[in-house]
Amino acid sequence: MTSIEAVLADITRFSSDVIVNAANSSLLGGGGVDGAIHRAAGPRLLEACRALGGAHTGETKLTDAFGIATAKKIAHTVGPVYAAYPQSEAARLLAECYRSSLELAEGYQSIAFPAISTGVYGYPMEAASLVAVAAIREWIAGHPTTTLQTVTLVAHSENDLRVLERALFSAP
Ligand code: ADP
Repeated sequence: MTSIEAVLADITRFSSDVIVNAANSSLLGGGGVDGAIHRAAGPRLLEACRALGGAHTGETKLTDAFGIATAKKIAHTVGPVYAAYPQSEAARLLAECYRSSLELAEGYQSIAFPAISTGVYGYPMEAASLVAVAAIREWIAGHPTTTLQTVTLVAHSENDLRVLERALFSAP
């Protein structure tokens, strides 16, 4: 039985087997949570990411967590730039980020997601939270024997935590 929870935390310090990075398509680091993860993991992460050859929007690639002792693996996913797609396509791509990350976390017990695309990529937090919760619930329903026990949605502000909690209570 897999549960979904929302917490207020810095994902670089949050204990979870897999933590997800909201990367860009180069997978070579950036600002926001990406910058924070690279700073915390250290230069070996950039080296490992160089070998991955980038990723397309919705795709996820896995690396070790290097200097981040609270995680075993980092799943680098590329969220959609909200303004670059029709809304339904942005939602489909964002859901794909959650699905592809969960697929790669199979074999582990826990995964923690930041609010993918809701920073620099401009996806409204309310809409993104509903997409995230629906995509995770659908994936869990389709994987009744998954090793994943806990899926955590990590908010970086009190307000984002409230939005995530509302999505968890209201989404079907
Ligand atoms: P994107 O380019 O996908 O929009 P950002 O890093 O700009 O990625 O923002 C994604 C989300 O990550 C935002 O909601 C931001 O508040 C959040 N965030 C930034 N730093 C951290 C952190 N250290 N831990 C958890 N979430 C974070």
